[in-house]
Amino acid sequence: MTLPSLLFDSHMHTPLCGHANGHPREYAQAALDAGLAGICFTDHMPMPAWYDAPWRMRLDQLAEYVDTVREVQAEYAGRLEVRLGLEADFHPGTERFVERVLNMCAWDYVIGSVHYIGAWGFDNPEFVAEYADRDSGELYGQYAALVEGAAACGLFDSIGHLDLPKKFGHRAPDESALLRALDKVAEHDLALDFNTAGWRKPVAEAYPSPELTRAAAARNVPFVLGSDAHKPEEVGFRFREALAQLGEAGGRVVTFTGRERRE
Ligand SMILES: [Zn+2]
Ligand SMILES: [Zn+2]
Repeated sequence: MTLPSLLFDSHMHTPLCGHANGHPREYAQAALDAGLAGICFTDHMPMPAWYDAPWRMRLDQLAEYVDTVREVQAEYAGRLEVRLGLEADFHPGTERFVERVLNMCAWDYVIGSVHYIGAWGFDNPEFVAEYADRDSGELYGQYAALVEGAAACGLFDSIGHLDLPKKFGHRAPDESALLRALDKVAEHDLALDFNTAGWRKPVAEAYPSPELTRAAAARNVPFVLGSDAHKPEEVGFRFREALAQLGEAGGRVVTFTGRERRE
C-alpha cells in the first residue's frame, strides 16, 4: 500500500463547471496542507451543447481551464505535483465530440463517468423523485450496460464512481449487473475511480462499495484515489478510510500522468 505521503487526489473540480467553489490554487494549497504528494484536476469536460450544459464548462472555456491549471502547476512546482485531467461523460452518440476534445490537449488522466440514463440525470438531487418510478433491477441493468460501453469505447483511463445510482440510498437488488460491468473494466484494462464523495452523500458509502472493491481487486483492476472535491476543503476527503477499505480488499493504488499508469 502506498504511503500516505505519496498520495495523490486525482478527482477534483473547478468553478468553471458552474457548481464548484474556490480557485484551483486553493485546492492545491489544501492538498499541500493535507500532506498529499499531488493532485489532478478533472473538471467536467465540455460536451455537445444539448447535453447537461449548466453543469460543465463550455468548449470556449477549455483554454481558460488549461491555462489556469498550468498556472497553478507552475506556482506549486517542487512542492506539489499538479496534473491536468478531465472527467468525461459517456453518453451514447457523443463519443466523437468527446474524442475531439480529448485530442485538443495533452491530458494526464481522463475519467469516464455515466451521469445519465437516457435523458435522466440520475445523480442530480433535483430529479431524485424519478427513482420511485423505476424498477431498481432494471435501472442498475441499464446503468451497468452504459458503464460497459464506457469501458469498451477506448476513450477513458478509468471509470468514475462505479456504483453511482446508490447515491441517494437506492441500492441494487444484487450486484450481478455491476459485476458484469467490472468484467468489462478488467477486460479493457481500465482503472476505477475510488471516490470518497459517497461518504458525503445520503448513502454514506464510498464508490465503489466494500463488496465491489473486493470484486475489482480480485479482477486485478487498480484504483485511482479521488475526493471528487467541489470545494477546497474536500480535497483528500477521508483518504485514511479509503486506504483502509482498499487495504482490506487487497486493492492497489495507481495514478496517471500523460495518460500512462504509475504504480
Ligand atoms: Zn460535479
Ligand atoms: Zn461524476
